[in-house]
Amino acid sequence: MSNNNNKNLSFSESVNHMADRAFRAMDMDPGIAAAIKACNSIIQVNFPVNIKGKIEVFTGWRAVHSSHRLPAKGGIRFATMVDQDEVEALASLMTYKCAIVDVPFGGSKGGLLIDPAKYERDEMELITRRFARELIRKGFLSPATNVPAPDMGTGQREMAWIADTYKLLHPEDINHSGCVTGKPVAHGGIRGRTEATGRGVVYAIREFFRHPDDIKAAGLSGGLGGKRIVIQGLGNVGYYAAKLLDEEDDVKIIAIIERDGALINDDGLPVEAVRQHINKHKTIKGFSDATFTENGGSALEIKCDILIPAALEAQITAENAERIKTSLIVEAANGPVTFEADEILRSRGITILPDAFVNAGGVTVSYFEWIRNLSHIRFGRMERRFDEMRGKNLISAMESLTDQTVPESMRNEIVRGADELDLVRSGLDDTMRNAYQELSETLHNNDKIEDFRTAAYVVAIDKISRSYFDLGVY
Ligand code: GLU
Repeated sequence: MSNNNNKNLSFSESVNHMADRAFRAMDMDPGIAAAIKACNSIIQVNFPVNIKGKIEVFTGWRAVHSSHRLPAKGGIRFATMVDQDEVEALASLMTYKCAIVDVPFGGSKGGLLIDPAKYERDEMELITRRFARELIRKGFLSPATNVPAPDMGTGQREMAWIADTYKLLHPEDINHSGCVTGKPVAHGGIRGRTEATGRGVVYAIREFFRHPDDIKAAGLSGGLGGKRIVIQGLGNVGYYAAKLLDEEDDVKIIAIIERDGALINDDGLPVEAVRQHINKHKTIKGFSDATFTENGGSALEIKCDILIPAALEAQITAENAERIKTSLIVEAANGPVTFEADEILRSRGITILPDAFVNAGGVTVSYFEWIRNLSHIRFGRMERRFDEMRGKNLISAMESLTDQTVPESMRNEIVRGADELDLVRSGLDDTMRNAYQELSETLHNNDKIEDFRTAAYVVAIDKISRSYFDLGVY
């Protein structure tokens, strides 16, 4: 296919073009393909809030791309560049994402046009609660039908306000805390949700490096250890991904790109220290032991083994795709590579692990949180001490049979019962591994599929179309 006919696609067109490649590989009926691609419903709300004695009108959206499974799920972002097309594109990615990792939700997404940095905490609370009220009243937010989560510009704080707003309006709903995920632990959140997307990215990369054929096809060799990585974005997703890789996988993070430039150090950057510097100075500028460049975009083009865009959409486009010098792109952000760029990178033989798989760790742990809310009990609460006792009995039995003492460190590992965080991480790891294996098998077993992204869409579309079929939609 030619790249030249596809200039300046919108985000949702870009996603749909990517899905089309999968529909073609599957010989899917065009009517069914259109039904799957279509955004089911979208609401725009305009609401006034009194800010320092002046009325300001805010605009927000919530799109439900699919509701073959309920609730529909997806984050709410607060940003200055949100628009309807972006929200629809992100909602459709949520549909595919949930299907890829077998999370039984439909796809949704929300956005509020706002610069959060311009408002005080109390003002943000007023605005968030008002937005939530609009969505609740119009049927776009409830534990059974539509469950938001954090995204760009939102976090635990906003989720707590949303949960409380829903509870005030629906005190009789016993499952009220399941109306939103990503809440603080003290308000029904789950341990490990904040780090989940970044951790999921790392689990995805680790699984890739357990597949020698895929490593070879990407033009790489060996394991993850020693690989040179460039990461764009040290926000919630990028920070946890980079920190884990840096501290546990013996890689070299040779460049970190942020909105005000990039830090480069061929010997590797200490991620935690960079983050502390950003927290303190609100910029990456001035970090010692690194070269700073204001041209962050140029750092995307540094030669490396793995490039992890973990910030905004449309960062690798037809304009810079030819200059990207990596073997593997791991899409931690949603939509960082446009359709046009994807075509160029594919023709250059660069392997891409796609967003709808790579960053699905967030919604996976959201699913765990939602289940926790519906069951009204923390994971591990019933069995932890029982497991601990069984571990102790096992050790006693081993010691009396062998007449030897189990060393202290081993004893502690065997005895320890799993707590909520252990279970969340185990469930997340298992989910990412299984999803990768399904993608990899699909890629290798179908001649019409040449890349991981198309394989991911095929896996997702196969599950979604089966579900539509079972429901009698066609
Ligand atoms: N905003 C995240 C995403 O893009 C999380 C969605 C969720 O947990 O529902 O996947």
